Amino acid sequence: APLILWFRRDLRLTDNPMVREAAATGRPLVPVFILDPETERLGAAPKWRLGLAVESFAQALERLGSRLILRRGPALEVLGRLAAETGALGVRWSRLCEPGWRSRDEGVKAGLKRQGIAAESHAGHTLFEPWEVRTGQGGFYRVFTPFWKSVKDRPVPAPLAAPAGLRAPTVWPRSDRLADWGLARAMNRGAAVVARHVAVGEAAAAERLARFLDDPMDRYAAGRDRTDQAVTSRLSENLTYGEISARTIWHAGLRARAEGRAGAEKFLQELVWREFAWHLLYHTPEIASRNWRGEWDAFPWRADNAEAERWRRGMTGEPFVDAAMRELFVTGTMHNRARLIAGSYLTKHLLTDWRVGQAWFEDCLIDWDPASNALGWQWVAGSGPDASPYFRVFNPATQAEKFDPDGAYRRRFIAELSPDPGPEALSFFEAVPRSWGLAPDQCYPRPVVGLAEGRARALAAYGRRDD
Ligand code: FAD
Repeated sequence: APLILWFRRDLRLTDNPMVREAAATGRPLVPVFILDPETERLGAAPKWRLGLAVESFAQALERLGSRLILRRGPALEVLGRLAAETGALGVRWSRLCEPGWRSRDEGVKAGLKRQGIAAESHAGHTLFEPWEVRTGQGGFYRVFTPFWKSVKDRPVPAPLAAPAGLRAPTVWPRSDRLADWGLARAMNRGAAVVARHVAVGEAAAAERLARFLDDPMDRYAAGRDRTDQAVTSRLSENLTYGEISARTIWHAGLRARAEGRAGAEKFLQELVWREFAWHLLYHTPEIASRNWRGEWDAFPWRADNAEAERWRRGMTGEPFVDAAMRELFVTGTMHNRARLIAGSYLTKHLLTDWRVGQAWFEDCLIDWDPASNALGWQWVAGSGPDASPYFRVFNPATQAEKFDPDGAYRRRFIAELSPDPGPEALSFFEAVPRSWGLAPDQCYPRPVVGLAEGRARALAAYGRRDD
């Protein structure tokens, strides 16, 4: 009987334990991607980018003589029906630890079992399963450095090669057409602009890694905070949809470290931040929705407001912050240092609840990851585990002097700041919704709040919290 392979955010053939083990059974395989209610709830940009990932992966399967069957509906219903149509007695998938997906998967597993269909889940999304990393007392880690120390020398199995072929069933079940799902219609801005910046699929991801290892890695330790230089790997986009495995990147990092390459250790450490984020999301799912430290519930966060709207539109009048927000809009990603500054500005200078920023990133990032986004926001807000203290208020102007010393990053994304704006600065105006009424020839706005005034207001609120 055939096996159904339920693909989600593991859209790759290389180093995919689920694919490898299923191929080894020699049974016919029915790969499926399901647009279920959980997937429908994705933000605009992640949903749009997912459509590109699915399209590319379907082509990769076809090259192996297989197909990707597309179906829409609640996962249990779809899988049960597909099993009945194909005679499959087993379903496989790669595990994900996101709270809503976890409970969905448990329900699917139990429901399939009742129908006599064996469901089996596999590792593959992270280097370590979140429950495999334990403190000496058997608990989970709340602080990064001990987490890093406990995993950095652990053996990680070598990545698995892609299967040479996937056995097809005698008859293929019906499939939806991707275009009919309208994933691109969900996009909240000019998709054509963002499309210039994506690198879709396994081959593109592998090329990105190779390019990074070729040169920027040597500058990574010293230069990864420079927003005006292309020093980081940009692999977060591909990791999000599973177009490359963390294990493949990890082993490349280990080889580079063995060769004494500068930057390798730091790079491995950053990859472990992603592990740490998933570890925390698994052990404390509420990190994605509530202040991780309960004492922050009393903090006078402002709900969504007009200044936050200026922040979303890249029109705060604070150039480093606006460049960051426009980079997000134009490219679908944001430099890590810029995420810190834009996040600090929203939660401190604008005293706005971190969840307002988290939601905007969830809608706009093509590398949106529920774990890293939650941890990142709670970190900047000061409410999270191992967080930056709230009273450390980033000053965007001095940060800009350090991490964008010649202003190239700001000019790259803000047309109003340059007499001769480049393509990205102009394409911001192409990408924004018409209802925002923005044009490149308008004057750059005055700051919504003075830096000293915003800082003082944040610190005063913080002081009151301690009363
Ligand atoms: P590189 O510097 O090349 O790092 C390699 C890989 O390590 C990354 O691809 C990523 O998987 C991981 N990594 C690096 N830094 C971090 C970090 N701080 N936390 C977790 N993993 C990290 N990352 C996401 O992938 N998705 C998100 O939704 C996300 N939201 C964030 C929100 C805020 C407020 C902040 C402060 C950070 C957020 N990050 C998020 C983390 C980080 O900014 C990105 O992972 C990084 O910018 C990706 O660029 P890169 O691939 O070039 O990273």
